Amino acid sequence: MLGYYKKLAFLLIFNIISVSAWAWGFFGHQRINRMAVFTLPPEMFTFYKHHIRYITENAVNPDKRRYAVVGEAERHYIDIDVYGDSAIFKMPRRWEEAVAKYTEDTLRAYGIVPWHLSLMKFQLVNAFKERNAIKILRISADMGHYIGDANVPLHTTENYNGQKTGQYGIHGFWESRLPELFADDYNYFFEKAQYIKNVTERAWRAVTNAHLALDSVLRFEKELTKQFSEDKKFSFETRGNITVKVYSKEFSAAYHQSLAGQVERQMRTSIQMVGDFWYTAWIDAGQPNLDSLLSTDKEEIKRLEEEDNNLEPNPNIKTRSHDTGLIPDIKPTYYFGKNIFRRKEEGGF
Ligand SMILES: [Zn+2]
Repeated sequence: MLGYYKKLAFLLIFNIISVSAWAWGFFGHQRINRMAVFTLPPEMFTFYKHHIRYITENAVNPDKRRYAVVGEAERHYIDIDVYGDSAIFKMPRRWEEAVAKYTEDTLRAYGIVPWHLSLMKFQLVNAFKERNAIKILRISADMGHYIGDANVPLHTTENYNGQKTGQYGIHGFWESRLPELFADDYNYFFEKAQYIKNVTERAWRAVTNAHLALDSVLRFEKELTKQFSEDKKFSFETRGNITVKVYSKEFSAAYHQSLAGQVERQMRTSIQMVGDFWYTAWIDAGQPNLDSLLSTDKEEIKRLEEEDNNLEPNPNIKTRSHDTGLIPDIKPTYYFGKNIFRRKEEGGF
């Protein structure tokens, strides 16, 4: 019985959060994974298209795991600015060299997304070599998520939610609210997937470009805030049966326009890069015949998804406050989540 309530509460958290922000939001991550399928060559396309529902719906699994799996959170970002001026250019690209310079604990404390992408590519190559359809799908879906994160400017800074510059809430604003409002108008015409000679270098290029875009992300919001009164900057919307405070449509439109296509660019880059990474792993694995894997047991895939969706929250894991994606002074999810964990510690659940 107690377990049932815990699970129910956990589901409620996700249902509430899903209306607000994750990295790229549910919406953005799912769109990135889905569109990436269409960049693939025919030899890969049939298999990925066959499983496009899995690839799309499971694009957010890594975010769900952050609450349940130790070591998950650090894979989604890198607070590169904690390492000093121009650290984005100076940080050793190779994991061993970076560990030697800063220690593994430090690197993990501030995020490892670019290195994790190299590891994932290695894992995907192995999955292809093993011709293991389930592993291929799982790693492909996860990989799409981390690539999406690596292209988000606010995933490259310690000031990840504007908390150091009086812009608290900007994380969900940029990566969730803006795509939800405007992504239907983006251009989704893509080039076919390209082979990447050096995936480590490619991952770092993504993080570097995202980091260089950070200045405008923060500056334009700050400038526009001077032009909008508080009641024009924010509004209230009903999601399900809760009322949430959101950035108003007018403020969102003005911000989106100042960014001059930045969100669209980052989303398009993510999509293209996901296709390129999948394709590169397949080539490096010797281009296995994927059509022969089409008969993979759908039941087994369903079972896997259920497993991924029924993770128990781990109360010892601290997550970042922007995970709720809600704006200050209205944080029901956050407090709700805390209450559950506190009650559990007190023996309540
Ligand atoms: Zn993420």
